[in-house]
Amino acid sequence: MWKKVSQRIKDVVGANTYKAYFSSTSIKPAVESEKELLLVCPSTTLYNLLKKGGHIKTIERCVEEVISSKVVVSFQVDPTAFTKDSHTQQETIPFSSIKKGEKKRKQIIQTSPFFSYYTFDNFVQGPSNETAVATSLAISKNPGIHYNPLCIYGETGLGKTHIIHAIGQYIKKILGKKVCYFDSQNFMDNYISSISTKRVQQFREEILEYDVLLIDDIQFFSKKEATQNELFFIFNKFHNEGKQIILTSDKYPSEINDMDDRLKSRFSMGVTTEIRNPEYEMRIAIIQKKISLLNIELSTELIEYIAKHIRRNVREIEGALKTLKISGEMVGKNIIDKPFAVKILKNMIKEKIYIGMDNILQMVSTYLKVRPQLILGKGRPTQVVRARQIAIYLSRQLTTNTYENIGAFFGGRSHSTIISSIKKVNELMLENKNIAKIVKKLSDDLNKLSE
Ligand code: ADP
Ligand code: MG
Repeated sequence: MWKKVSQRIKDVVGANTYKAYFSSTSIKPAVESEKELLLVCPSTTLYNLLKKGGHIKTIERCVEEVISSKVVVSFQVDPTAFTKDSHTQQETIPFSSIKKGEKKRKQIIQTSPFFSYYTFDNFVQGPSNETAVATSLAISKNPGIHYNPLCIYGETGLGKTHIIHAIGQYIKKILGKKVCYFDSQNFMDNYISSISTKRVQQFREEILEYDVLLIDDIQFFSKKEATQNELFFIFNKFHNEGKQIILTSDKYPSEINDMDDRLKSRFSMGVTTEIRNPEYEMRIAIIQKKISLLNIELSTELIEYIAKHIRRNVREIEGALKTLKISGEMVGKNIIDKPFAVKILKNMIKEKIYIGMDNILQMVSTYLKVRPQLILGKGRPTQVVRARQIAIYLSRQLTTNTYENIGAFFGGRSHSTIISSIKKVNELMLENKNIAKIVKKLSDDLNKLSE
């Protein structure tokens, strides 16, 4: 696209001006797509000259003429953009000065380590994370091909770090690709240290040598402008070369505060997939997986007790199980019974008021402004059906009632109606952020009731 546009610019401004401002050593495209053209300028001076001379307008006009008016043209000033091959950079060691035996300069970046336990095999799947897992697996098998970037978001303790490690380890071990993984703090530390040792160029070059870039918890880049700029640059390079980028965040990317809009729009360019709180059956499965790994034995009754009471996140469940293991060891118990566990977990599980389906019905009715009788009735106006489906979904999510019980409560509906209502809400939440927000708000408020 840039080729076509620059040909047109040449016709418009004449060969001399073209050479001075637009040749490949002056300005280069960093992103070319149907929607945008991002041009990199090697200095602010050149950018200002372009602007003063009215050439920015010329570029925009030529893009409009040659391609389409829908393409957004933007600029990035990057003083190191074209120096990669030259030896003018202070920190680039000229070939001749490398001493014998010193084949390669020492790597300055230190990526974050992977936890070997954080694999796909050790990750329990269920309705609240299966789309995220399926997408992650597809991308792990064919990085750079499906969606770029992949952004996984979800609240704390629901498995984002686990899953990004699983992806990274898969691509590294199974595909043998070079994987660059940073948690956000470590990315910042590395970047800042490269600034203070005047090795930013080397920092970039080293990262750009990798095939895949993974960054955990990008919400921490909020307010860190310099780091955001750097990430923007690196992101564009990876993206342009079709190299996979995977990110996690505790917020929907567009909702991260104090983050450059250009960066946010890039985070949302590929696919964003959510991990939600696990529901009852899944919590049971997670507890079973974790106790087998911790090598402790719990009765079914106790497993159910924990799954019933610790609902919000997996990290808390794990914490409870570890506490039980240690406490059991201290008193020489290898099988942990319920009275003992209840005593130990007293502080974590304050006896709660159970959330009942009547609480859910009431809350959904108030919030969505649909009368309870209508929710329980047979009427099919969209608003009523939606409220009914959400109430059913929440009953499954927040109580331990079976499909049959839920069906009986909600106007004598069948087992299959209940299952399809839950499925529908799961789909709606993926498609429609607003519905996802409403369900989350209701779920949070209901959880607060029981605290
Ligand atoms: P986040 O990064 O979203 O805050 P983590 O990935 O650190 O959460 O997860 C917290 C703990 O819970 C980790 O030890 C992780 O192994 C565990 N965990 C979370 N989800 C699952 C799951 N679906 N299956 C197994 N373990 C899980
Ligand atoms: Mg994490």
